[in-house]
Amino acid sequence: MSRFDRILVVDWSANSTPKRGADSIWIGMAGAQADPPQNFATRAETMAYLRNQMRAALAENQRMLVSFDIGFGFPKGFAKHLTGRAEALAVWDWLAARIEDDATNRNNRFHVAAEINRRFPGLGPFWGRPDHLDLPDLPAKGKERSGHGLADLRATEALCAGSHPMWKLYTTGSVGSQSLLGQAHLAQLRAEFGDALAVWPMQDTPAPLVLTETYLSLIDSAVRAAQGYACKDAAQVDLLARAFHAADLAPMMRPEAPRDILREEGWILGAGHGAELLSALGQPALTPPRLRNDCFAMPQGVDWVPVEAALTRLRDALHPVTTTEDLATAQSGGRVLAQDLIARRANPPAANSAVDGYGFAHAALAGDGPYTLPLVAGRAAAGQPYDGPLPAGHAIRILTGAILPQGVDTVVLEEDCATDGARVAFDGPVKPRINTRKAGEDVQAGAVFLRTGRILTPPDLALASALGVARIPVHRPLRVGVLSTGDEILSDPAAPAALHQIYDANRPMLLEIARKWGYQPVDLGHWPDNETAIAGALDQGAQSCDVILTSGGASAGDEDHVSRLLRARGTLSSWRIALKPGRPLALALWQGVPVLGLPGNPVAALVCTLIFGRPALSLLAGSGWITPQGFELPAAFSKSKKPGRREYLRARINEQGAVEVFASEGSGRISGLSWAEGLVELPDAAIQITPGTPVRYIPFASFGL
Ligand code: AMP
Ligand code: MG
Repeated sequence: MSRFDRILVVDWSANSTPKRGADSIWIGMAGAQADPPQNFATRAETMAYLRNQMRAALAENQRMLVSFDIGFGFPKGFAKHLTGRAEALAVWDWLAARIEDDATNRNNRFHVAAEINRRFPGLGPFWGRPDHLDLPDLPAKGKERSGHGLADLRATEALCAGSHPMWKLYTTGSVGSQSLLGQAHLAQLRAEFGDALAVWPMQDTPAPLVLTETYLSLIDSAVRAAQGYACKDAAQVDLLARAFHAADLAPMMRPEAPRDILREEGWILGAGHGAELLSALGQPALTPPRLRNDCFAMPQGVDWVPVEAALTRLRDALHPVTTTEDLATAQSGGRVLAQDLIARRANPPAANSAVDGYGFAHAALAGDGPYTLPLVAGRAAAGQPYDGPLPAGHAIRILTGAILPQGVDTVVLEEDCATDGARVAFDGPVKPRINTRKAGEDVQAGAVFLRTGRILTPPDLALASALGVARIPVHRPLRVGVLSTGDEILSDPAAPAALHQIYDANRPMLLEIARKWGYQPVDLGHWPDNETAIAGALDQGAQSCDVILTSGGASAGDEDHVSRLLRARGTLSSWRIALKPGRPLALALWQGVPVLGLPGNPVAALVCTLIFGRPALSLLAGSGWITPQGFELPAAFSKSKKPGRREYLRARINEQGAVEVFASEGSGRISGLSWAEGLVELPDAAIQITPGTPVRYIPFASFGL
């Protein structure tokens, strides 16, 4: 499908001495004349090889894409400040004129980085160096940098979890060093090959040779599963070259980013398209494997299964089954996060004032106060930064959220000041840096701020937005099918009912629970106790749902058609759980889709849904196993509980703060479910309860109702 005859993927390296094997340079290739991955000891050797490959491609009239795992650009603002032009390719030329990199990998990248840092205000943006290199302009740690005025990440990096900032020069993930050296070499290729070579996405002229950057971790799951490669680097370049060759590159080469960003920062080929690349490798990561057929089987000889054992078993058997999609941040509330989220910028991005007041340099205060400082004209307000440094010994009017002007590190509250417009007076002592917020004091750029599996809350949307994350990879909502069975059940509460008929209570309850839990409810209807009819409904459910909840007919009696059918045609494990109200619970796979066969009694159906269905569905949906939060409260009732099974009672908290339970334990008493606001959980062992005995209460809210 690729428009290129050959694809080369280069895992570049910033090694300072020749080196082969893991963590050295590898080139993978796909398409015409593809060889196994090649390994190179030096950058000079690599460039000689690439020149040959490129000349050969031109001689044979082939189109060739060469993709490097380095950054082709730096965060916005860098190119303009360094070269006067907001263009990544101007930086390439600037570097080519200064970088020295000899045939044995000896190079001056740290010195060039220090020289760049000298041209920017403050300290930075580059950091990281070996201990023995004493370069005052190149801090050893990222945290030592300040005031350089540049973001840590490029727009494209927000789509690539785990990518490191371009400013990092040393130790793990030193993409900065690789990029400084790489860009200098590539600038020379551009000079040699002229119009035959275009750099994507900075240039849009058609050319037979195209250079792009990429990110090897895009296909991590395929690399993890790969076998027979010399090292991880070899697997990465080989698989990514194949993926680029097999995939449709056209949509990947049309990134949704403004033209000026593409020219200055560049773009990672494949960013945000990991799923397509994996499926091009015949390994679609987003359609998770179906469950194993015997996954619900209880060990032989197990009769009554304790609740905890059943939960552990269920937890081990299940894994997430939903595919994923990217949503605009504002649309992603309630969804399950499918990837760790990384801060695109710091919060706050710059040091600013926490109050309305007057700002100055703390060093300007002499003695214990009171103090009087001359005011400069103008002010600093949120969104209206003060231009230029504050003269020593002066103060400035500053408002909440305003960036601290250069020369301001401390702010006094306006209520503590007197002013005549030309001077400001206030009393001491004043603590240094009081009433100011440090840059990044909340979240640092590049930090992981939300983890996979998180159900996104309204505050999460605030956080993601503040940190510059515009799109969020989320799981698609779990599709939960609900069907009820029973000859006596009447599905429409508006229909007249004979005495032997009862209205379907479970289905509306279960559909609403699925909706409340953030899933997509799918109504699979009500079916009589007829195996053909129920099988048809399960077939339909297996097509349209990720999991199916049935109610009724789950025991082992004559009329228990659901369990009979699941035993005959699905893979049934009927679990007799030591639980009241509850047993039986049937677990099965129908065409690979998990089916939870709930008891027909509405009280038992609800308890089983809350205790087993909730964690199971959460795991399937990608949000992980969850345990409800309960707490101990004094009982307002008496009960003598037998050993051997766990019990749940419909309960609520009375005005005295004690737990009362519903008068009847009958599991057909639906009014008790509605009366209750939670459940009391009584342990498997025997227990004697009298008023005041502590019992564990779990509010329905803890079950997400
Ligand atoms: P079963 O599990 O089919 O033996 O049903 C147990 C009890 O629950 C019987 O009294 C059924 O009539 C009742 N039942 C089954 N399904 C429902 C339902 N959808 N709504 C209300 N009651 C039900
Ligand atoms: Mg029945």
